Amino acid sequence: MQKVKPIPEDWPIQPLKKQSDAEWPARCEYCGLSWDDALCSNWVAPPSSRCPFEKFHIYRNFGSVEICLGYVVDTDNKEMVKSAMDALYEDVMNAVKHNELKDCIVVTKDSTGNLSERQIPDFLLEDEGG
Ligand SMILES: [Zn+2]
Repeated sequence: MQKVKPIPEDWPIQPLKKQSDAEWPARCEYCGLSWDDALCSNWVAPPSSRCPFEKFHIYRNFGSVEICLGYVVDTDNKEMVKSAMDALYEDVMNAVKHNELKDCIVVTKDSTGNLSERQIPDFLLEDEGG
């Protein structure tokens, strides 16, 4: 998944092709581009060690596609949990039987900040072309 737009040729700091070309090599954990921090420290816009390509970072919003069936339960109440599981199973089977399962599929945006690119299954990344 692309995490950075192409860096314009006239941008004052250019990504390194080889880390060994740099006096003080630095690499951004987010976009993976490398630069020479020795050059960067002479350039006031970004503080030293901060990614000079931040402006070109592509941030993504994660969420999930899920089947929105479920019941809130008291997890300490085993009887309640079992009843909810049975009811959920019935709901899913009925939705399939009546061809209504598609209506139950929703997109939920991540409000926790816990979702990341690493959790996206491989089969969904294949169409991204890289
Ligand atoms: Zn970066």
